[in-house]
Amino acid sequence: MKVSVVKETAPGERRVALVPDAVVKLRTAGLQVLVESGAGDGAWHTDDSYAEAGASVVSRSEALAADVVLMVSKPDAAAIGALRPGQLVIGLLAPLTDPELTSALAAAGVTAVSMDMIPRTLPRAQPMDALSSQANIAGYKAALLGANAYGRFFPLLITAAGTARPARVLVLGTGVAGLQAIGTARRLGSVVSAYDVRPETRAEAESVGATFIELTSVGPASGEGGYARALTEEERMAQQQELAGHIARHDVVITTAQVPGRRPPLLVTEDALKSMAAGSVIVDMGASALGGNVVGSSPGETVVTENGVTIIGASGLPSSMAAAASAMYSRNISALLLYLVKDGELALDREDELQAGVIVTSGGAIVHPALAAAAPKPASERAATSEQEAASEPQSTPEQQSTPE
Ligand code: NAD
Repeated sequence: MKVSVVKETAPGERRVALVPDAVVKLRTAGLQVLVESGAGDGAWHTDDSYAEAGASVVSRSEALAADVVLMVSKPDAAAIGALRPGQLVIGLLAPLTDPELTSALAAAGVTAVSMDMIPRTLPRAQPMDALSSQANIAGYKAALLGANAYGRFFPLLITAAGTARPARVLVLGTGVAGLQAIGTARRLGSVVSAYDVRPETRAEAESVGATFIELTSVGPASGEGGYARALTEEERMAQQQELAGHIARHDVVITTAQVPGRRPPLLVTEDALKSMAAGSVIVDMGASALGGNVVGSSPGETVVTENGVTIIGASGLPSSMAAAASAMYSRNISALLLYLVKDGELALDREDELQAGVIVTSGGAIVHPALAAAAPKPASERAATSEQEAASEPQSTPEQQSTPE
């Protein structure tokens, strides 16, 4: 069975789905590995290094013709046009936020498997958890970006030229990325506070060195599967107001809050921004086409407000550490692929909870229970979806979606 790796085409994407070490592992499992020429360039893996590991370096059309096509992010329209019914495509396909792509993959007749739909709480899925591996990298890089943009020191420094107090860092959202951001900011010597709507994250945040902030105006908002639920409008406004007081007392704020399949919650409002001191920095990891955690943030852009607050719309952070991110993703996707293969052939079984969680399209149809009923909406409509609307919709998480049909 031929398994291929294609070169990523999304703007700025430097990661590659398999690194040469993984080629050796897949070949040992009886798979033939094809790598599109140049696929590893962005992560510093040459065609020669893949060839040495036993892969065949091929053209894009040959790679797209393999039985299984591996990728990091979504395929472009040309790639989808080159696919044929029955092929298996695995990548971070974001079906919850990109129903048009899911429909296109169904129409192409391929079996699409999305790495971001893995039921993360299943113990056997841990090695395949690309959301966690990439979030770890993003959290680390977000802390570095914050330190880099801040015009003062992170650690306490006592020198002959004076004493510098340590930076006060606030991390909003203490999931995988937030915890890594806390640990990294602490290792750089700053004093870190943290907040999350899920009170169970308190112990985790404290264990990596943060002081946990509790808001009195918002109760616990834990949802299904270890995720947060969307807040009601009332809760959201109370949260924003109370958070603003804390935000004003910090030098660097790193926001990581997400609710699966939703627009990221707005945590830093215009008023909160105005209350911050000149020279403060915000790194918005929630920045996306759908909106971010910080008013006025834009993915991939850095803006400075009138009162001197730098807002970094931190999108694509894993790609900015392409070598590390690819090595981790490669382990995740290899583990998933080997889980789907028996005796060198695909053994797909949608009765299996893990497989049912990740298989999005099959046989020309959208088969995932959480997606099959949802009609695609145009992107403009989704971007305009207000948080208020999001809060009133029923919440769905990858864990919920993983229920077999
Ligand atoms: P995520 O990226 O979906 O969200 C990041 C954080 O934002 C979460 O901690 C969430 O509670 C928080 N958040 C959402 N709305 C918020 C708001 N309005 N205000 C403040 N914070 C808000 O989460 P994630 O990092 O992908 O993972 C979340 C959790 O999933 C983990 O903490 C863990 O409990 C669980 N998980 C479990 C496993 C496992 O069991 N092996 C693996 C990975 C993750």
